[in-house]
Amino acid sequence: MDLNDTPDQAAYRERIRSWLDEHKSGAPSKSGSSEDTAYIDARRAWQAKLAEAGLAGVTWPEEFGGQALGPIEQVTIGQEIGRAGVPGILDTIGIGMLGPCIIAHGSEEQKTRYLGPMLHGDEVWCQLFSEPAAGSDLAAVQTRAKQGEDGRWTLNGQKVWTTNAQFASYGLLLARTDADVAKHKGLTMFIVPMEREGVTIRGLRQISGEAEFNEVFFDDLVVEEDAVVGGVGNGWGTALTILMHERMTIGFGSEGMGYSGSRFAAALGTDPAARADADVRRRLGEITTELLGVRFNGYRALTALSKGQIPGPEAGLAKVTTVNAAIAAGELISDVLGPEALDEDSEWAYMISFLPGLKSAGGTEAILRNTIGERVMGLPAEPRLDKGIPFKELRAKEKEAAAK
Ligand SMILES: Cc1cc2nc3c(=O)[nH]c(=O)nc-3n(C[C@H](O)[C@H](O)[C@H](O)COP(=O)(O)OP(=O)(O)OC[C@H]3O[C@@H](n4cnc5c(N)ncnc54)[C@H](O)[C@@H]3O)c2cc1C
Repeated sequence: MDLNDTPDQAAYRERIRSWLDEHKSGAPSKSGSSEDTAYIDARRAWQAKLAEAGLAGVTWPEEFGGQALGPIEQVTIGQEIGRAGVPGILDTIGIGMLGPCIIAHGSEEQKTRYLGPMLHGDEVWCQLFSEPAAGSDLAAVQTRAKQGEDGRWTLNGQKVWTTNAQFASYGLLLARTDADVAKHKGLTMFIVPMEREGVTIRGLRQISGEAEFNEVFFDDLVVEEDAVVGGVGNGWGTALTILMHERMTIGFGSEGMGYSGSRFAAALGTDPAARADADVRRRLGEITTELLGVRFNGYRALTALSKGQIPGPEAGLAKVTTVNAAIAAGELISDVLGPEALDEDSEWAYMISFLPGLKSAGGTEAILRNTIGERVMGLPAEPRLDKGIPFKELRAKEKEAAAK
């Protein structure tokens, strides 16, 4: 593993840097409200510009508007966007996770219809997976889809924590199509239009004051037969493609999200008392060490990707470590700056109030630790009460087990 750019990579970086230098004056601000339509429109237009310049969907095939480049170029763009101080794409969920799923499992018609408008920000997408009783245990989803004699499907149920649903045009929704088989088997993935009758979206207000995610209700929503992605009954496999991309998006994104030791050090260094305080220095040192560990482990995963291999479950460590280090940084900054750290115009207020949520997003710490324990360290697997049992019988089995 060589951590320096090769001559080709250096030339690529230079090209990206000069494009950004030339165009950054036309970029919208990095922060703005997801409820402000004018701001969201500006972010869509900026995404379109990035896409036209080849800075969005970098790893997508060329026939769908991508650059057919590798993860290294993707990371280079992330670093240069961070350096230029401009926002990246608006639809990270669509381009980073749902688009690759449609590319892998969608029909030719679906790819032709949906990928172009997704890439250019004309149609933003959302991920309709989590439900009130299906988060970590995603395969327990209860939203039902029933096929009529005309082939069309009728959907009923509720999703929750749906990021960007308030301005999304489409979503990828995981629904139960067969309750007579084991829970991972009776699932199907659907493309659903978010503006159609039968869809109700309600914002969930967070401690930061923003409502970035939503509850979404489906009441007799009707979708066409060709809304299925990846085949009826294959929803779990299709969902896994998305979850793998999600894990990598969050794991690699720590520096892109602004969680870096040098940024924290620069902020703390403005306070002379903090600069001289041995305890502050020790805490900052620990945080920086953790984040550097994530960076170098990320390079390992990148090396695997650039050789055509898929990074193993240890990639989940990046998320756990990043989030815990950033939470510790938020606490340190609050201790030094005092209540001002949470003032509306403080650069830290959003980070500090958003991070507890990021503990759950993309897999909770307990779930990721379980995965690492079982699949990396070879520890015994968790007891599974649901193996091979038809979904519709699970409730009774769970009650039976609880009563014992
Ligand atoms: C910022 C943010 C954005 C999100 N965006 C989306 C989105 O766009 N689309 C979407 O579908 N979802 C989204 N989510 C939801 C996210 O995927 C879920 O929060 C996550 O899967 C955890 O599910 P849950 O919240 O239902 O918690 P639960 O699964 O109910 O977990 C509750 C607690 O129990 C623990 N726990 C659960 N099972 C086990 C176990 N087997 N062993 C040990 N401990 C366990 C968990 O670690 C956790 O502490 C988002 C969440 C956040 C915070």
